[in-house]
Amino acid sequence: MARIVGSIPPHGGQLINRALRGELREAALERARSFRPVQLSRMAVSDLELIAVGALSPLTGFMNKADYDSVIDTMHMANGLAWSMPVTLPVDDETAAGLHEGQEIALMDGDDLMGIMTVEEKYAADKEREAREVFRTTEEAHPGVARLYRQGSTLLGGEVFMLNTPHEVEFPELRHEPAQTRRMFASRGWRRVVAFQTRNPIHRAHEYIQKTALEIVDGLFLHPLVGETKSDDIPADVRIASYHAILRDYYPPDRVLLGVFPAAMRYAGPREAIFHAIARKNYGCTHFIVGRDHAGVGKYYGTYDAQLIFDEFEPGEIGIQPLFFDYTFYCKKCNAVVSSKTCPHSKEDWVMLSGTQVREMLERGEMLPEEFTRPEVSKVLMEGIRSKKPAPPESTP
Ligand SMILES: [Zn+2]
Repeated sequence: MARIVGSIPPHGGQLINRALRGELREAALERARSFRPVQLSRMAVSDLELIAVGALSPLTGFMNKADYDSVIDTMHMANGLAWSMPVTLPVDDETAAGLHEGQEIALMDGDDLMGIMTVEEKYAADKEREAREVFRTTEEAHPGVARLYRQGSTLLGGEVFMLNTPHEVEFPELRHEPAQTRRMFASRGWRRVVAFQTRNPIHRAHEYIQKTALEIVDGLFLHPLVGETKSDDIPADVRIASYHAILRDYYPPDRVLLGVFPAAMRYAGPREAIFHAIARKNYGCTHFIVGRDHAGVGKYYGTYDAQLIFDEFEPGEIGIQPLFFDYTFYCKKCNAVVSSKTCPHSKEDWVMLSGTQVREMLERGEMLPEEFTRPEVSKVLMEGIRSKKPAPPESTP
């Protein structure tokens, strides 16, 4: 077993590596030619990558039924380890009918061979129970539930090996794997590292939260999610450009590392907050920022549910230390970015904009208020959003 670098052990104690390289990979590629191909969803492709690089340690493959049931019902795997989200490989009935337990399959993304797997178990998904327990709703208007209901009803459990990383990956230079980030943190002398999960641009409120956290640790790992999200989220390339802009001008370079988290958004709110925290522990982070409505969507979760859920675990079970933050905003009377915990004034003094307001302003070409967003960030977002706006219908001559 390889020596584990870093000041926090991976979840379950061992950093998993299921990415085959060199001769082992060549041999597996050869063998896989005779395996039955099984198409992966976008989410399964990213789950395969996360498993292979160790981001989901101790998972070595897609879950078998015992873990699936146990995770849904108890937020623990069958062996008792804390775990909040099912990580499964769904297939449609036709595919399932052609497969038997013990069979080796080729995991495909279109025409691309991504990995191999031995089917240890083939079992029925319990979608309604999974939706109710994991997403806390069975409404199909919820994007995570909608995806769950759309996907195949049979789940394949078994260990995987990744043979190829998705090749049209965005930001390969930022795709640091857990073994790498652990070395990067160590080489910078960071013993305490706080991770910030996001799928949004960094407004002043997020900067405040990150820097407040940074006051008590050695380094900040800015780890935006770049896997599949809802179509109305800000595109990943625009977000990444906005991160570069703010990091360059407002953050000390030796205290921040930017990496991308190639996970699909599940929008499971509280359960996903736990999932995100455990993944960041595997990347070597000791602290994890949980804001309001982390990984939430619509009005499905209470403002603080994603924080309260951490109390459902025994001390030490999750391992990484969550840091909880409240509403943050610029207050004109305080003349500073503050939070509802630290400011005694009222809403009239606070500069707050909804996501919709932000988007509309940027689409109109208006800079966001400086108290809300740094101008460097506004500019990048505006250019990004305006260049991606669908072209108006062509006028007939
Ligand atoms: Zn105030």
